[in-house]
Amino acid sequence: MTAKPRLLTGDRPTGRLHLGHYVGSLENRVRLQRQYESFFIIADLHTLTTKPEPNYIREIPSFIREMTLDYLSVGIDPDVSAIFVQSAIPETYSLNLLFEMLVSVPRLERIPSLKDMARDANMDTMPFGLLGYPVLQAVDILLPRAQVVPVGRDNQSHVELAREIARRFNNLYGEIFPEPEAIIGDVPLLVGTDGQSKMSKSLDNAIYLSDDAETVNRKVMSMFTDPKRLRATDPGTVEGNPVFIYHDAFNPAKAEVEDLKERYRAGKVGDVEVKKKLAKALNDFLEPIREKRAYFLAHPTIPRDALMEGIRRIQIEAQATMELVREKTGLSYSAGLLTERMDIFESAE
Ligand code: ATP
Ligand code: MG
Repeated sequence: MTAKPRLLTGDRPTGRLHLGHYVGSLENRVRLQRQYESFFIIADLHTLTTKPEPNYIREIPSFIREMTLDYLSVGIDPDVSAIFVQSAIPETYSLNLLFEMLVSVPRLERIPSLKDMARDANMDTMPFGLLGYPVLQAVDILLPRAQVVPVGRDNQSHVELAREIARRFNNLYGEIFPEPEAIIGDVPLLVGTDGQSKMSKSLDNAIYLSDDAETVNRKVMSMFTDPKRLRATDPGTVEGNPVFIYHDAFNPAKAEVEDLKERYRAGKVGDVEVKKKLAKALNDFLEPIREKRAYFLAHPTIPRDALMEGIRRIQIEAQATMELVREKTGLSYSAGLLTERMDIFESAE
């Protein structure tokens, strides 16, 4: 039996998962988890890049719980996939330091998502750690030597950097790392309910996988649509209209969607009808996910054991990788410096 290629991706525990995560990455994770040996990281150290304060750190454990429940509810199967928490893996910190030596500051400054993150977090200067966000992400990807990374478009440039770091490392020290590839979701960047370009946990414009039906109804009814359309009889614009983007992504009744679009363009349907049908489609999509969530909430040993087993599995891979890294870089002397390598003094005559 040949070993399966590896997959790694994940999320920051800054909130619950939403529809943007689903179409950007979760759908691919569920689809690919058996084809690849899969690792899903809850990246708590990445949270510190924009939220280092203790009040945010205190929230992390509950978001780790919510996120694990979200993963299991959409169909990530803990019997085949490893789910783990980033800070539980000490090798992460060691490899991060080595990778920091292999990338230039101007290269990192060119990555657009970092500036967006600093702005969204109301930071006026760029912390050193936030500039290093994609370096730490390269560590996550390369510790288990993953080949593929299912992410949304905002993360594509980070995977590109991981490729460069892998290449540079291999050139300097010898082949260890594969050059990972991003796999972008069906909807590379889902718009927010407010019409802002990205649905995000941090922007309060998200519909969560765990929202109840009433919350979904309320969020959909107050969604941003075509701002130029004042009455139901005005011809409306379908392209780029968040309500229709969501219909396309989540409403399986294609004929209904086409009919709504046609009438919208002709000024023959009101926003209310379009939104009511969208809320129904979203609730139909979310209901099985909610049911599974309720089940895992009622059986807390399942998510708990999933995390414990996932941490055990990644730990084995991380240790094996660091063993190779020490060997190839020549840094292996440090591991044994206090015992067998004290011979460095003996030869000094
Ligand atoms: P935060 O505000 O904490 O950054 P986020 O909602 O941006 O949260 P991340 O944890 O940064 O979520 O992203 C996790 C994964 O989900 C990444 O692969 C990212 O590309 C993808 N993703 C997040 N939001 C969207 C979206 N609106 N559309 C498509 N993919 C998304
Ligand atoms: Mg983000």
